Amino acid sequence: MFTKQIFDQNCTACPRLNNFLLDVKNKYPQYHARPVAPFGVENPELLIVGLAPGMHGANKTGRPFTGDYAGLWLYEALYDFGYSNQLKSEALTDGLELKNCRITNAVKCLPPQNKPTGDEINTCNHFLAAELAQLPKQAAILALGGIAHRAVLKAYNLKLSSAKFGHNVVHHLPDGRYLVDSYHCSRYNVQTKRLTKEMFDDVFFNIAKLIHERRSG
Ligand code: URA
Repeated sequence: MFTKQIFDQNCTACPRLNNFLLDVKNKYPQYHARPVAPFGVENPELLIVGLAPGMHGANKTGRPFTGDYAGLWLYEALYDFGYSNQLKSEALTDGLELKNCRITNAVKCLPPQNKPTGDEINTCNHFLAAELAQLPKQAAILALGGIAHRAVLKAYNLKLSSAKFGHNVVHHLPDGRYLVDSYHCSRYNVQTKRLTKEMFDDVFFNIAKLIHERRSG
């Protein structure tokens, strides 16, 4: 059981996001269009932190990166590295289960143009802080993109200058956990080749190595 609240389905703390979700729900009544809960196991060895739900992905289906272009490589990698039971994540009813892994977002609600404001990131940050505080001590954290990276530092009460974002860079957090960064697996980053499949898989190889080293003492 989580002791501090890591998620609130009824949160309306950000007026702009709340109004946007109401508009989206009007336009697409069948969409989830509410805060999107973290997905996966309670005590993961890997916590993946994304940015925020995508309009026709998590915001539609109610599960992070599900039905979303940004989920294609992510869920493939999770399957390839033994963190899930299937390659694809298309809908809540698709039978997907994560193993030893959980996916959360820095911001739980869909932001206009995929861009949460600094205030919205800060307002939502207590959920991430609670989630991080309750992670197993040995867990690794994967931040997808600079916003997720900075949200993790903020949740840890660390200065942003204490750890600069870099693809496949490993940061040692004060509690002994590792924070690993990756460029976000967004359609934009994939199509512009800022992120290649090889670069993305390398991050997972790196994490597997860190977790293995940690397990073998
Ligand atoms: N969907 C999510 O849930 N998070 C992201 O960061 C992108 C798409």
